[in-house]
Amino acid sequence: MRKARALTENQLVKLEKQLIKDQDSLIFNDVYDEEFNLKDEERSDEIDQANASVSNAQRLRFRNRETFYKKKIGQALKRFEEKRFGMCEECEEPIGYKRLSARPTADLCILCKEESEREEDASIFGSQSKSFGKKLDSAAAQA
Ligand SMILES: [Zn+2]
Repeated sequence: MRKARALTENQLVKLEKQLIKDQDSLIFNDVYDEEFNLKDEERSDEIDQANASVSNAQRLRFRNRETFYKKKIGQALKRFEEKRFGMCEECEEPIGYKRLSARPTADLCILCKEESEREEDASIFGSQSKSFGKKLDSAAAQA
């Protein structure tokens, strides 16, 4: 198995900058979100309630994702402080620059990540196996 190389000083600086930039752009989104809320309140009775609740749900989902991402960035920056950035949380091998430049919040190496995704897939498949089976049945009936 080919191991990723540990990050160089230059690469570390680059990734830390990228994380801080990402963090700043999320703060901007918060302001944007508040503007959205104001506009909602300004609207009058002709507002389509169904549409409003859909966009609220979308906004909530977006905000949840953002909050999650913000947390990930905070954790990544903390790993910088603790000099653990770029190391897999699971096996403590280097994560590798290529993976980190695409996803600077990554805290697992690709092997451990794939492993954890396989486990997730397995549990999703387990909980959905009933409807999945039905889909397979109807596909077979159409064939
Ligand atoms: Zn690992």
